[in-house]
Amino acid sequence: LPRPFFFEVKETDLMGRVGQVTVGKKRFETPCLTPVVHPVWRDIPLSQFKAMGFDVLMTNSYILYKRQGKEAIEKGIHDLIGFEGVIMTDSGGYQVLEYGDAEFTPEEIAEFQSKIGSDLAVTLDRPTGYSISRAHARETMRASLSAAEATIRKFPDSETTWVGPIQGGVFGDLVRASARGLTRAGFQFLALGSPVELMEGYMFSPLVEMIVNARSAMAYAMPMHLFGAGHPLTLPLSVALGCDTFDSASYMLYAKKDRYMTERGTVPLDRMTYLPCGCPVCNSTSLEALRAEPREDRVRKVALHNLHVLRADVLRCKEAIYEGRLWDLVEERAMAHPRSASAFRALVRDRVDWLAKPTRLLKLRGLMVRSEEDTSRPELALARKHLSRLMSARRPAAKTIAVLVTSSAAPPLTRRSAKVPRAGALGKAEIYRINPQIGPYPAELEFVFPFAQTISDRQATEASLTASVKKLRAMGYAKVVVARGSRGIARARTRKRAPRSR
Ligand SMILES: [Zn+2]
Repeated sequence: LPRPFFFEVKETDLMGRVGQVTVGKKRFETPCLTPVVHPVWRDIPLSQFKAMGFDVLMTNSYILYKRQGKEAIEKGIHDLIGFEGVIMTDSGGYQVLEYGDAEFTPEEIAEFQSKIGSDLAVTLDRPTGYSISRAHARETMRASLSAAEATIRKFPDSETTWVGPIQGGVFGDLVRASARGLTRAGFQFLALGSPVELMEGYMFSPLVEMIVNARSAMAYAMPMHLFGAGHPLTLPLSVALGCDTFDSASYMLYAKKDRYMTERGTVPLDRMTYLPCGCPVCNSTSLEALRAEPREDRVRKVALHNLHVLRADVLRCKEAIYEGRLWDLVEERAMAHPRSASAFRALVRDRVDWLAKPTRLLKLRGLMVRSEEDTSRPELALARKHLSRLMSARRPAAKTIAVLVTSSAAPPLTRRSAKVPRAGALGKAEIYRINPQIGPYPAELEFVFPFAQTISDRQATEASLTASVKKLRAMGYAKVVVARGSRGIARARTRKRAPRSR
């Protein structure tokens, strides 16, 4: 029988989520970075990955198949490489792309992945890469899809959970067709291919579109892996767009080029003056000592530091999801580079409604509005939508007045504390407050997130005040009284000579 595979969403923010994957008897939490390790050569002892909290490793079944295939089948992959956690194997599609080697069929490599006991195995794919040829993109997508269908048909009872590779590159319709085809074939876990060149070329806008296309063609409850995604600049963004697992060889590739990772990107060691990091590696050495190390040791140490940076970044994303502040993290990180900043702005312009869908309606922290983009944040977009539905259903009784209180500093306003007239010539009063980002809202929503929980130094302008008065009047109020500050109500009352109710 196939082993059980479950994905449970525990907490959400934007399209991002903290989830738990159960594969057989093993479990791991997402978002999760799965470091790529060489199946034969050991740069870093695998025990260190486990000690650092990496529950899942990714390795290449193609290299293993060619170099230690027999031994791997006899021992099983976990014993062979000495790691008990979850092992995900790549099919080798990338190698086929690099070296033009296609010595095996999809069924052969799948059988091998199954025999060595991979927990998660990506079926053989043909990576689209960054291709501007639509014909090529379609061909690679179709080839990957038909190999995936063949695999899952031939090994329906495998103990390995098959992961379906999404291809199609920058062609959104192909990416969506790929994700739908894989879902129809019965895959429960999909992996988005071909982002590497986009990331390396800092082409973040097409990267965002590619992820959005893949994600929007999949069920929300299905996890998605993003291939080759170990660049700290894009990690929070990818998480916010609904990527759950990420493999990366970047920690080692950068280390081999003497590049030191920071949360904003990488820096060549020889251009640095300090080691601005508190990880065990950086705590136990100095930049000078690190530079003087023999190459092999230096690479290992920088790689370990890089892993610490990525690990901390994944934790930061998870913490932000629980805090309801993933947006803030994504924006702060995006601002580190003009290309990621413009990708973020495009996301704000085109995809906020999509991002807002699973966003929680209640958050425990105030909502920061610091930039123009923040005024479009999904929480505010949702609040505006709900409010407009509520306001359009309101029909004030005849002679009712609306009191628009502009001060946000005044104590919570109730009819009693405001001493606003209840009845008489002007009829009763209904109190509104104003949020510069949302507009006028009924005062009883004050304790409903995010109406009074918006942290901003933007005050309601005269123009927005005029627009609010106009809006309230259009709703059918007999009069709209603007009360400025907490004393404003009394002044407004005197001026209108409204009789007191008692
Ligand atoms: Zn460090």
